[in-house]
Amino acid sequence: MSIAGGKYQAVLRGQKIGCETIQIFVKNANRWKAKPLTAEDITLFQQTLQETQISPVIAHNSYLINLASPDEDLWMKSLEALIVEVERCAALEIPFLVIHPGAHKGAGEKVGLNRITIALNEVLKRTESSKVTILLESTAGQGSILGGRFEHLAKLLNESFYPERLEVCLDTCHIFAAGYDLRTPEACEETFKEFEKIVGLGKLKAIHLNDSQGKLGSRRDRHEHIGMGRIGLEGFRWIVNNPALSCLPLILETPKGPDLKEDRDNLGILRSLQKK
Ligand code: MN
Ligand code: MN
Ligand code: ZN
Repeated sequence: MSIAGGKYQAVLRGQKIGCETIQIFVKNANRWKAKPLTAEDITLFQQTLQETQISPVIAHNSYLINLASPDEDLWMKSLEALIVEVERCAALEIPFLVIHPGAHKGAGEKVGLNRITIALNEVLKRTESSKVTILLESTAGQGSILGGRFEHLAKLLNESFYPERLEVCLDTCHIFAAGYDLRTPEACEETFKEFEKIVGLGKLKAIHLNDSQGKLGSRRDRHEHIGMGRIGLEGFRWIVNNPALSCLPLILETPKGPDLKEDRDNLGILRSLQKK
Protein backbone atom coordinates (compact mmCIF):
# COMPACT_ATOMS: atom_id res chain seq x y z
CA MET A 1 0.00 0.00 0.00
CA SER A 2 1.35 3.42 -0.97
CA ILE A 3 2.73 5.60 1.84
CA ALA A 4 2.18 8.83 -0.13
CA GLY A 5 1.06 11.52 2.31
CA GLY A 6 2.45 9.67 5.34
CA LYS A 7 2.62 6.09 6.56
CA TYR A 8 -0.71 6.36 8.36
CA GLN A 9 -2.30 7.03 4.95
CA ALA A 10 -1.33 3.51 3.87
CA VAL A 11 -3.33 2.19 6.82
CA LEU A 12 -6.36 4.31 5.84
CA ARG A 13 -6.08 3.11 2.23
CA GLY A 14 -6.07 -0.46 3.50
CA GLN A 15 -9.12 0.15 5.65
CA LYS A 16 -10.97 1.77 2.76
CA ILE A 17 -10.76 -1.35 0.62
CA GLY A 18 -11.31 -3.83 3.46
CA CYS A 19 -7.80 -5.12 4.23
CA GLU A 20 -7.04 -6.92 7.48
CA THR A 21 -3.29 -6.64 6.90
CA ILE A 22 -1.12 -4.41 4.69
CA GLN A 23 2.44 -4.20 3.41
CA ILE A 24 4.29 -0.88 3.17
CA PHE A 25 7.73 0.56 2.53
CA VAL A 26 9.21 2.27 5.58
CA LYS A 27 11.09 4.69 3.31
CA ASN A 28 11.30 5.56 -0.37
CA ALA A 29 12.07 2.20 -2.04
CA ASN A 30 14.23 3.68 -4.78
CA ARG A 31 16.52 5.92 -2.69
CA TRP A 32 19.30 5.22 -0.23
CA LYS A 33 18.63 8.14 2.07
CA ALA A 34 15.61 8.43 4.33
CA LYS A 35 14.25 11.39 6.22
CA PRO A 36 14.29 10.52 9.93
CA LEU A 37 10.92 9.48 11.35
CA THR A 38 9.34 12.17 13.49
CA ALA A 39 7.45 11.57 16.74
CA GLU A 40 4.35 12.73 14.89
CA ASP A 41 4.84 10.13 12.09
CA ILE A 42 5.02 7.42 14.71
CA THR A 43 2.08 8.56 16.83
CA LEU A 44 -0.18 9.07 13.84
CA PHE A 45 0.73 5.63 12.48
CA GLN A 46 0.09 3.89 15.83
CA GLN A 47 -3.22 5.71 16.34
CA THR A 48 -4.44 4.81 12.88
CA LEU A 49 -3.54 1.16 13.44
CA GLN A 50 -5.46 1.16 16.71
CA GLU A 51 -8.49 2.74 15.10
CA THR A 52 -8.55 0.49 12.05
CA GLN A 53 -7.46 -2.74 13.80
CA ILE A 54 -5.28 -3.58 10.79
CA SER A 55 -2.73 -6.14 11.93
CA PRO A 56 -0.05 -7.12 11.28
CA VAL A 57 1.65 -4.51 9.14
CA ILE A 58 4.46 -5.93 7.06
CA ALA A 59 7.32 -3.81 5.74
CA HIS A 60 9.19 -4.46 2.48
CA ASN A 61 12.79 -3.41 2.05
CA SER A 62 14.14 -0.97 -0.53
CA TYR A 63 14.94 -2.31 -4.00
CA LEU A 64 18.48 -0.88 -3.91
CA ILE A 65 19.70 -3.14 -1.12
CA ASN A 66 21.81 -6.11 -2.27
CA LEU A 67 23.23 -8.14 0.60
CA ALA A 68 24.91 -10.52 -1.87
CA SER A 69 26.77 -7.79 -3.74
CA PRO A 70 30.39 -8.66 -4.56
CA ASP A 71 31.15 -4.90 -4.51
CA GLU A 72 32.41 -4.02 -1.01
CA ASP A 73 31.00 -0.48 -1.05
CA LEU A 74 27.58 -1.52 -2.27
CA TRP A 75 27.52 -4.43 0.17
CA MET A 76 28.38 -2.17 3.11
CA LYS A 77 25.88 0.45 1.97
CA SER A 78 23.22 -2.27 1.74
CA LEU A 79 24.01 -3.56 5.21
CA GLU A 80 23.81 -0.08 6.74
CA ALA A 81 20.60 0.72 4.86
CA LEU A 82 18.97 -2.49 6.08
CA ILE A 83 19.89 -1.64 9.68
CA VAL A 84 18.12 1.71 9.25
CA GLU A 85 15.07 -0.11 7.90
CA VAL A 86 14.98 -2.52 10.84
CA GLU A 87 15.28 0.45 13.21
CA ARG A 88 12.41 2.21 11.46
CA CYS A 89 10.25 -0.93 11.72
CA ALA A 90 11.11 -1.13 15.43
CA ALA A 91 10.13 2.51 15.97
CA LEU A 92 6.85 1.96 14.13
CA GLU A 93 6.31 -1.37 15.94
CA ILE A 94 6.14 -3.23 12.63
CA PRO A 95 6.89 -6.87 13.44
CA PHE A 96 8.08 -8.12 10.01
CA LEU A 97 10.44 -6.77 7.36
CA VAL A 98 10.39 -8.70 4.06
CA ILE A 99 13.67 -8.59 2.17
CA HIS A 100 14.91 -9.90 -1.17
CA PRO A 101 17.94 -12.08 -0.38
CA GLY A 102 20.17 -10.48 -3.05
CA ALA A 103 21.94 -11.03 -6.40
CA HIS A 104 25.46 -12.45 -6.67
CA LYS A 105 26.18 -10.56 -9.93
CA GLY A 106 28.45 -13.25 -11.30
CA ALA A 107 30.35 -14.10 -8.12
CA GLY A 108 28.47 -17.41 -7.89
CA GLU A 109 25.73 -18.84 -5.67
CA LYS A 110 27.97 -20.01 -2.88
CA VAL A 111 29.83 -16.70 -2.54
CA GLY A 112 26.57 -14.76 -2.79
CA LEU A 113 24.79 -16.81 -0.13
CA ASN A 114 27.79 -16.44 2.17
CA ARG A 115 27.78 -12.68 1.79
CA ILE A 116 24.07 -12.57 2.63
CA THR A 117 24.68 -14.69 5.73
CA ILE A 118 27.47 -12.40 6.94
CA ALA A 119 25.40 -9.29 6.26
CA LEU A 120 22.28 -10.67 7.98
CA ASN A 121 24.23 -11.78 11.05
CA GLU A 122 25.67 -8.27 11.32
CA VAL A 123 22.28 -6.56 10.79
CA LEU A 124 20.59 -8.78 13.37
CA LYS A 125 23.45 -8.32 15.83
CA ARG A 126 23.37 -4.54 15.53
CA THR A 127 19.58 -4.49 16.03
CA GLU A 128 19.64 -7.06 18.82
CA SER A 129 17.40 -5.08 21.14
CA SER A 130 14.61 -4.91 18.54
CA LYS A 131 11.89 -7.49 18.11
CA VAL A 132 11.70 -7.07 14.32
CA THR A 133 11.81 -10.33 12.37
CA ILE A 134 13.34 -10.36 8.90
CA LEU A 135 11.43 -12.44 6.35
CA LEU A 136 13.49 -13.78 3.46
CA GLU A 137 11.37 -13.63 0.31
CA SER A 138 11.46 -16.40 -2.25
CA THR A 139 12.36 -15.03 -5.68
CA ALA A 140 11.78 -15.98 -9.31
CA GLY A 141 15.52 -16.71 -9.56
CA GLN A 142 16.02 -14.47 -12.58
CA GLY A 143 19.61 -13.62 -13.57
CA SER A 144 21.95 -13.91 -10.59
CA ILE A 145 19.17 -13.35 -8.04
CA LEU A 146 19.34 -15.82 -5.16
CA GLY A 147 16.31 -17.26 -3.36
CA GLY A 148 14.67 -19.02 -6.30
CA ARG A 149 15.33 -22.41 -4.70
CA PHE A 150 13.97 -23.44 -1.31
CA GLU A 151 17.50 -24.75 -0.64
CA HIS A 152 18.83 -21.16 -0.77
CA LEU A 153 16.37 -20.07 1.90
CA ALA A 154 17.17 -23.15 4.02
CA LYS A 155 20.90 -22.44 3.83
CA LEU A 156 20.44 -18.81 4.90
CA LEU A 157 18.19 -19.89 7.79
CA ASN A 158 20.53 -22.65 8.91
CA GLU A 159 23.57 -20.39 8.98
CA SER A 160 21.97 -17.56 10.90
CA PHE A 161 23.17 -16.74 14.41
CA TYR A 162 19.68 -15.35 15.08
CA PRO A 163 17.29 -18.02 13.73
CA GLU A 164 14.44 -16.71 15.90
CA ARG A 165 14.55 -13.40 14.02
CA LEU A 166 14.91 -14.82 10.51
CA GLU A 167 11.88 -16.39 8.85
CA VAL A 168 10.35 -16.71 5.37
CA CYS A 169 7.82 -15.03 3.06
CA LEU A 170 6.73 -16.99 -0.02
CA ASP A 171 5.59 -15.18 -3.18
CA THR A 172 3.30 -17.34 -5.35
CA CYS A 173 4.33 -15.59 -8.58
CA HIS A 174 8.00 -15.95 -7.74
CA ILE A 175 7.95 -19.62 -6.75
CA PHE A 176 5.84 -20.50 -9.80
CA ALA A 177 8.23 -18.64 -12.11
CA ALA A 178 11.10 -20.39 -10.31
CA GLY A 179 9.60 -23.76 -11.23
CA TYR A 180 7.34 -24.76 -8.32
CA ASP A 181 3.93 -25.59 -9.77
CA LEU A 182 0.74 -24.21 -8.15
CA ARG A 183 -1.83 -24.76 -10.90
CA THR A 184 -3.75 -27.66 -9.33
CA PRO A 185 -4.46 -28.87 -5.78
CA GLU A 186 -2.07 -31.79 -6.42
CA ALA A 187 0.67 -29.42 -7.61
CA CYS A 188 0.15 -27.21 -4.55
CA GLU A 189 0.36 -30.25 -2.24
CA GLU A 190 3.61 -31.24 -3.91
CA THR A 191 5.12 -27.73 -3.77
CA PHE A 192 4.28 -27.18 -0.11
CA LYS A 193 5.42 -30.72 0.77
CA GLU A 194 8.76 -29.78 -0.78
CA PHE A 195 8.81 -26.50 1.16
CA GLU A 196 8.01 -28.36 4.40
CA LYS A 197 10.81 -30.84 3.73
CA ILE A 198 13.48 -28.27 2.88
CA VAL A 199 12.55 -25.16 4.88
CA GLY A 200 9.71 -26.15 7.24
CA LEU A 201 6.21 -24.68 7.30
CA GLY A 202 6.91 -23.32 10.79
CA LYS A 203 9.31 -20.80 9.24
CA LEU A 204 6.63 -19.39 6.92
CA LYS A 205 5.26 -16.12 8.34
CA ALA A 206 3.64 -14.41 5.32
CA ILE A 207 2.63 -15.07 1.71
CA HIS A 208 2.53 -12.68 -1.25
CA LEU A 209 -0.42 -13.74 -3.38
CA ASN A 210 0.27 -12.79 -6.99
CA ASP A 211 -0.63 -14.57 -10.20
CA SER A 212 2.14 -14.84 -12.77
CA GLN A 213 2.44 -13.49 -16.31
CA GLY A 214 5.38 -15.80 -16.94
CA LYS A 215 5.09 -19.56 -17.43
CA LEU A 216 6.12 -22.21 -14.91
CA GLY A 217 9.90 -22.08 -14.62
CA SER A 218 10.18 -18.97 -16.83
CA ARG A 219 12.08 -17.11 -14.08
CA ARG A 220 10.09 -13.99 -14.97
CA ASP A 221 9.05 -11.71 -12.12
CA ARG A 222 5.86 -10.26 -13.63
CA HIS A 223 2.85 -10.15 -11.36
CA GLU A 224 -0.66 -10.66 -12.73
CA HIS A 225 -4.15 -10.22 -11.26
CA ILE A 226 -5.47 -13.21 -9.30
CA GLY A 227 -6.82 -15.84 -11.70
CA MET A 228 -5.73 -13.96 -14.83
CA GLY A 229 -2.21 -15.37 -15.03
CA ARG A 230 -0.53 -18.71 -15.58
CA ILE A 231 -1.27 -19.98 -12.06
CA GLY A 232 -5.04 -19.54 -12.27
CA LEU A 233 -7.77 -19.67 -9.63
CA GLU A 234 -7.35 -23.28 -8.45
CA GLY A 235 -3.96 -22.65 -6.88
CA PHE A 236 -5.26 -19.65 -4.95
CA ARG A 237 -8.38 -21.57 -3.93
CA TRP A 238 -6.15 -24.26 -2.45
CA ILE A 239 -4.04 -21.74 -0.52
CA VAL A 240 -6.88 -19.70 0.97
CA ASN A 241 -8.65 -22.87 2.09
CA ASN A 242 -5.57 -24.44 3.64
CA PRO A 243 -5.84 -23.76 7.40
CA ALA A 244 -2.05 -23.71 7.87
CA LEU A 245 -1.65 -21.02 5.21
CA SER A 246 -4.85 -18.97 5.41
CA CYS A 247 -4.04 -17.97 8.99
CA LEU A 248 -0.92 -16.14 7.74
CA PRO A 249 -0.89 -12.53 6.54
CA LEU A 250 -1.69 -12.78 2.81
CA ILE A 251 -0.55 -9.79 0.79
CA LEU A 252 -1.48 -8.74 -2.76
CA GLU A 253 1.25 -7.17 -4.93
CA THR A 254 -0.81 -7.13 -8.10
CA PRO A 255 -0.87 -4.19 -10.55
CA LYS A 256 -3.09 -1.28 -9.49
CA GLY A 257 -4.13 2.29 -10.11
CA PRO A 258 -4.65 5.13 -7.62
CA ASP A 259 -8.34 4.33 -6.99
CA LEU A 260 -7.36 0.80 -5.83
CA LYS A 261 -10.19 -0.76 -7.83
CA GLU A 262 -7.92 -3.63 -8.86
CA ASP A 263 -7.07 -4.33 -5.21
CA ARG A 264 -10.77 -4.48 -4.34
CA ASP A 265 -11.39 -6.86 -7.26
CA ASN A 266 -8.48 -9.15 -6.39
CA LEU A 267 -9.46 -9.18 -2.71
CA GLY A 268 -13.05 -9.96 -3.68
CA ILE A 269 -11.94 -12.88 -5.82
CA LEU A 270 -9.73 -14.34 -3.07
CA ARG A 271 -12.52 -14.03 -0.50
CA SER A 272 -15.02 -15.61 -2.88
CA LEU A 273 -12.71 -18.63 -3.19
CA GLN A 274 -12.71 -19.15 0.57
CA LYS A 275 -15.20 -21.81 1.70
CA LYS A 276 -17.41 -20.43 4.43
MN1 MN B 1 9.38 -8.52 -2.83
MN1 MN C 1 6.65 -10.40 -3.42
ZN1 ZN D 1 7.84 -10.01 -7.69
